[in-house]
Amino acid sequence: MTGDSDRKLASATRLVSAGRRAEWTGTPGHPSAVVSPPVWRASTHLYADTAALKSGPKLNEDGRFFYGRRGAPTQWALADALTGLEPGAAGTMLYPSGVAAISGALLTVLRPGDVLLMTDNAYEPSRTMGNGLLKDFGIETRWFDPLSPDAFAKAICERTKCVLLESPGSLTMEVQDVPAIAAIARDRGVISIIDNTWASPLGFAPLSHGVDITVMSLTKHVGGHSDVMMGSASAGSHWYARLRKTAQAIGHVVSPDDAALALRGLRTMGLRLESETAHALELAAWLEQQPEVARVLCPMLPGSPGHDLWARDFNGGCGLFSFVLKGGTAEARNALIDALELFGIGFSWGGFESLVTPVDPARIRSASGWPLAGMADEDRFGVRLSIGLEDPADLRADLRSGLDAWRRAEG
Ligand SMILES: *Cc1c(COP(=O)(O)O)cnc(C)c1O
Repeated sequence: MTGDSDRKLASATRLVSAGRRAEWTGTPGHPSAVVSPPVWRASTHLYADTAALKSGPKLNEDGRFFYGRRGAPTQWALADALTGLEPGAAGTMLYPSGVAAISGALLTVLRPGDVLLMTDNAYEPSRTMGNGLLKDFGIETRWFDPLSPDAFAKAICERTKCVLLESPGSLTMEVQDVPAIAAIARDRGVISIIDNTWASPLGFAPLSHGVDITVMSLTKHVGGHSDVMMGSASAGSHWYARLRKTAQAIGHVVSPDDAALALRGLRTMGLRLESETAHALELAAWLEQQPEVARVLCPMLPGSPGHDLWARDFNGGCGLFSFVLKGGTAEARNALIDALELFGIGFSWGGFESLVTPVDPARIRSASGWPLAGMADEDRFGVRLSIGLEDPADLRADLRSGLDAWRRAEG
């Protein structure tokens, strides 16, 4: 039900069958056969005798239990399902959060003395990792303009070991030319890692576009219900073996309860993404027509920055996009956000419910500017929306009241 044969099926079909191996769910007809892999709580595996203990599997590659830190069938089913959805992947490691997946991948590739090139639109904790943890380990991070493969090529030096991409960037939504950057990286011996949380493998297949390791925060689309934290890293056999070694050395393990929640979320991810994408596109197009809005940053929307690359490389989108207000103040922007009734104010995204946060990238960028090229200098106050499963007409009316509140606050 999984593995290579699965990849020939459409993604909707693979989402249903992924990870449901009979060895984990039971063989149909057997009294314990079930649809979803049960929550398999275990630290200890019991052996029959010392000889079995000695010869027992030390790794779980053969699907047998050894010790809880290597996972148990619930976690393996999730990892297997994610591998099955990721073209070009030989395996997937699970991590207790998306941030742990990013650090797990970076610490697999980088060693003291190395230089990491990071896209300037990276998720803020990724930047913090470069400036903090990695720096303390003797690894230098340098940033490059996300929109310029040339700037990336020029930034490569003898010590450059790795590049971290994120496309679209989860605040400012720039789409990178991933195939071009990955090709340059491969040519120059630089290992490429991408944070593919926005698109998920349903929207973008990084490994088949030349990237070495793809990372996701499963907290977002896969979990989908704002009640679980988890991350993943998938790769071909070379890097998968190394990711695994690092994760086991650090001691990363996820709970079977959380793995079961993530697996449950995965089953409906395709439907949720389809609905959220359609509604986000509808709302983005509407926002673009509103006089208060200077710019909509939604790669799925024709005319929006990054749309051409998105249309070339992606098979789908999601409900996360941003827009920038025409001038105004931070206070007026906050009045807009506070006036919204159907959008929760909070971090994260990709859940079934809509969320809103202010966006102020100027504070964190170093290699490229904000506002983006083509935007007026006074248009700096951004709003990020994560569109959930509500009726888009209700969300539109709510956003209209928010824009009215912005007008009032602007006087
Ligand atoms: C949320 C997020 C992460 C981190 O995921 P957590 O599960 O919250 O640790 C990483 N990258 C992007 C783009 C994110 O939005």
